[in-house]
Amino acid sequence: MNIILGISASSGISTGKAFVIPEQVERIIPQFPVSSSEIEKEWERFSKAKSKITDKILKQLEGLSPDSKQDKIQKELLETYLLMLDDPVFLQEVRQNLEENPFNIEYILDVKTEEYADRLRNSGNEYLTERAQDICDIFGSVLNELLNIHVFNIEQVPDGAVIVARDLSPSDAIIFTKRKIAGLALAEGGTSSHVAILARNYGIPAVFALENITKEVLQGSKLIVDGTAGEVIVSPDIQTLSDYTAKIEKELEHKEKILKFKDIPAQTKDGTRFTLLANIGTPEEAKLALDQGADGIGLFRTEFLFMQETTTATLRNHVMTEDEQFDAYRTVLETMKDKPVTIRTLDAGGDKIISSLELPTSQEKNPLMGLRAIRLTLNFPKLFKTQLRALYRASVYGNLKIMLPLITTTEQVVKAKELISEVQAELENEGIPFNKDVPVGIMVETAAAGITADCFAKISDFFSIGTNDLTQYTLGVDRENLLVSPLYNEFHLAVLRLIQHTIEAAESEKIPVSVCGEMAGKTDSVLILAGMGIRTLSMGINNIPYIKELLSSISIAELQSISAKSLNNL
Ligand code: PEP
Ligand code: MG
Repeated sequence: MNIILGISASSGISTGKAFVIPEQVERIIPQFPVSSSEIEKEWERFSKAKSKITDKILKQLEGLSPDSKQDKIQKELLETYLLMLDDPVFLQEVRQNLEENPFNIEYILDVKTEEYADRLRNSGNEYLTERAQDICDIFGSVLNELLNIHVFNIEQVPDGAVIVARDLSPSDAIIFTKRKIAGLALAEGGTSSHVAILARNYGIPAVFALENITKEVLQGSKLIVDGTAGEVIVSPDIQTLSDYTAKIEKELEHKEKILKFKDIPAQTKDGTRFTLLANIGTPEEAKLALDQGADGIGLFRTEFLFMQETTTATLRNHVMTEDEQFDAYRTVLETMKDKPVTIRTLDAGGDKIISSLELPTSQEKNPLMGLRAIRLTLNFPKLFKTQLRALYRASVYGNLKIMLPLITTTEQVVKAKELISEVQAELENEGIPFNKDVPVGIMVETAAAGITADCFAKISDFFSIGTNDLTQYTLGVDRENLLVSPLYNEFHLAVLRLIQHTIEAAESEKIPVSVCGEMAGKTDSVLILAGMGIRTLSMGINNIPYIKELLSSISIAELQSISAKSLNNL
């Protein structure tokens, strides 16, 4: 038995088998001559590797559902791969090269694949240019097979696994929506990272900062993840296992007990009402939010929809279409019926990379300060307008609000509204129904927006305070970087004053203000926010019953005294 200490990223306790994600291996192509007598052997190795990849694709094709749109796109791509693998012209070129210039097959294949891809790239034909990447991908798989490199695919993670990895990208974390993941044990990762947020939403216990975890844990070993204490126990002995089984049962009992709050409105013990909303990243989570008693959706992070598509590398070239987005937004609106649903426009960039979008963001030196969120969508109006069209088309199916992320200037709001007017005019011309009175608000998540909240209050229908980025940008502390995590302090007076100023600005212009950062779902920070006057909180789905329980045990006067202390605490 081995106990490894880390930090808590998502509370709760679970047990499961370790699924260790290997660290990425770089593909290095060897180059050596072979004798003419070895040519046949090399060709045979190539044919074998190629047929292994063909078999894998055929298997993948079998598993696709004919009813899923996404699977249909993937089917097309996998079929293209099969055609490429058997392209007689290309195979003839590889064979000829091997005979005329006898080198090991990996080297020949690598050179010929690059040549082929270059020809496609320079063809001047858009369709063929796009296929260049496909040819590199598919023969890259053959090369990996020849070199015995086993590239990891997140889809391989089974139900009930504890994922052990150096880090997970937000797009890999989409696996939480597809499998029942028991726990998460990461060497890196920040507690305000998107992976941590998703883990909390799905109730997956998670421990981060477990420095050597990928080396210390063997594939398949039994693990206990204690997300509450921030530790992972490897191969527990019988006594420990039985102690933890009892703890898990107790936790479940508390969860059951707390669910009685589901159907009761959120209020303090002296009767002040609160609205508790849910933060979601996929349409399916809307149902989970209702199950936990959410009064609506306060933040739908739409970028996760775009990232979800790229979990399969093969879908790289596919970007969410207007219809696909419309379906997702409509599903959430219909699920929530007349309850409010705030959908945030694409907040890509930073750590949320959408590889299907060929954007310059991957070359940025400091992506969190770069072309992300509203900056990105205003730079790519076609992308932005597609999303806006989908949103307005969906607006007739429920109680929609549109929210703009990472606003720093009033011009950004004005420009976004111009694009909204263009979209509305287009829909009107096309005779497509929409609700033209959808409230358009902003996220206050930069110091700029907080300090000048009075200016933004005049041109926004509502504010939602994003305390995750507000803390990050105000304190200049990367929310993902464990080296500076002690400085990431949501209770810093600078952050609290910005929140207070934003609330005052909203009140003086009589626009609604809520909080949708992680502070809104944590017991200690909720006390301060509520004392400052916040009455609408949007949080991780699983926090809703706990926050209802907390509010029911306290009075407004007590809350006000807690926040007054924090605001005066220099
Ligand atoms: C925030 O920054 O507080 C927020 C809610 O947005 P995200 O966590 O998606 O950046
Ligand atoms: Mg943010």
